[in-house]
Amino acid sequence: MNNSKDSIKDSVKDIFFKPRVLVVDDEVRIQNACQRLLAEEGCDVEVAENGAKGLEMIKKQHFDIILLDLMMPGMSGLEVLKDVKSHHPDTVVIIITGYATLEHSIETMKKGAFDFLSKPFSPQELRLVIGKAIEFIRTLQDIATEKSRMRVMINTLTDGVLTTDNQKRIALANPAFLKMIGCRKTSVIGHKVSEFITNSRLLDMIDQAINEPADTFAEITDEITIPFSKEKDDIIIGVRCIPFRDRLNRNLGSVTLFHDITALKKIDQLKSDFVSMVAHEIKSPLNSILMQIDVVLAGLAGELTEKQKEILQKSSNRIKSLTKLSTELLDLSKIESGLINQEREELDLVELTKSQIAFYRDQADAKSIHLTIKETKKEIWMMGNRLNMEEVMSNLISNAIRYSPNGGKITAWVDEKTDCVKITVSDTGLGIPQNELEHIFDKFFRVKNEKTRHINGTGLGLAIVKSIVDAHHGTIEVKSEVNKGTIFFIYFPKSEYTI
Ligand code: ADP
Repeated sequence: MNNSKDSIKDSVKDIFFKPRVLVVDDEVRIQNACQRLLAEEGCDVEVAENGAKGLEMIKKQHFDIILLDLMMPGMSGLEVLKDVKSHHPDTVVIIITGYATLEHSIETMKKGAFDFLSKPFSPQELRLVIGKAIEFIRTLQDIATEKSRMRVMINTLTDGVLTTDNQKRIALANPAFLKMIGCRKTSVIGHKVSEFITNSRLLDMIDQAINEPADTFAEITDEITIPFSKEKDDIIIGVRCIPFRDRLNRNLGSVTLFHDITALKKIDQLKSDFVSMVAHEIKSPLNSILMQIDVVLAGLAGELTEKQKEILQKSSNRIKSLTKLSTELLDLSKIESGLINQEREELDLVELTKSQIAFYRDQADAKSIHLTIKETKKEIWMMGNRLNMEEVMSNLISNAIRYSPNGGKITAWVDEKTDCVKITVSDTGLGIPQNELEHIFDKFFRVKNEKTRHINGTGLGLAIVKSIVDAHHGTIEVKSEVNKGTIFFIYFPKSEYTI
């Protein structure tokens, strides 16, 4: 008994308002009993002796709980209940009745009553039912507070947020999103996304998220460009789209986040332009310095001492590395600007790999490295850019040679699968530490340790390989173990690029 007595007080204490209770009953005895007991429990209590008076009071001020007698002279409790529920749906109504028959219960519940108290009731019964009502109000309040907090947060985000139900109807669209798509309407909720979004890739992403199978949870990401009018520049947006699900893992809809990356892209473009401009500008002076050093080295400008030759040779090597760097930077900027995709032709990858292996045979022999192609099929064809594919093979094979100690083994092969063609290059060389593997395709990244210290390089080779593979809609993977070797796999989708 004490427990439940404490529970109302605890609820009232926890709650950040004093519950306002209205007792609508014509029996003075009930009015007084309820008023005294609930006031003791920390509620603000008022009394109305009939339905009409009760409604008048409710109109003037909000009550959290109404204790309502069903049988009163004049307006019946049921009529009051109907009015309260239609005008004040948040108010909890507890019915007090002398004859709590099943029919009565069903009817009042249908009309929105929260619970019953049958006359005569004990103080304990009253406490119990009021305690339950306060708990209920508190839960509703928590939900409302949480909703309001979320709404404020989402509405003030500078990133766009769009959620849809599984019929692709908009359930939420924050101001940042509406601004990004140039939509001035505020009442978009309930409309189909396709009424406001015309970008087919974006519609596709939402579609994909909604139809994602229950056992997967993949985030669909992409960059999309939203074209604007002549006066306004296009904007580039990083988009992430994810499904959201119920407890049974059914897809309820999608959440899409939009991050404006226009400024970042511009800076990136400026950087790339600057780098390729510098690379281009230094290439010809470097070549001319190299030629002049070669002339001097060949003795055409007079006899040289051994020491002078050594110094000039070192300078020549350094300049060759610089020329390689500028060539690779220019290659990369060409690939990144999408120039390569324009010139595609039918390529036999088996023949292309064989010719690259033949090209590197001498370098491999010089380190007693066994360099072979594993025979699979005689010919495997794909559509691609010849120079780029040669660059891919050349980078992978030359890396395998450079990062293998003498006496290693390098094998390359091409496979044809049902949905892709696969190129593999494996070596028994130095290997790459696990924690560095994720960076090896980054520009200028090089593994730095005792063993690689003396191997020259720019850190651009694999970035070029990755850009070429990406531009051909392929994927590249790597597995490696330190001191055991490294294996690269490249996959090109058959549908698009094979013939
Ligand atoms: P680099 O010009 O330095 O060779 P890459 O981009 O081609 O540049 O390679 C990046 C780094 O990845 C290299 O510095 C090297 O540490 C590592 N690496 C690449 N290929 C191999 C390989 N086959 N075996 C071991 N390490 C490799």
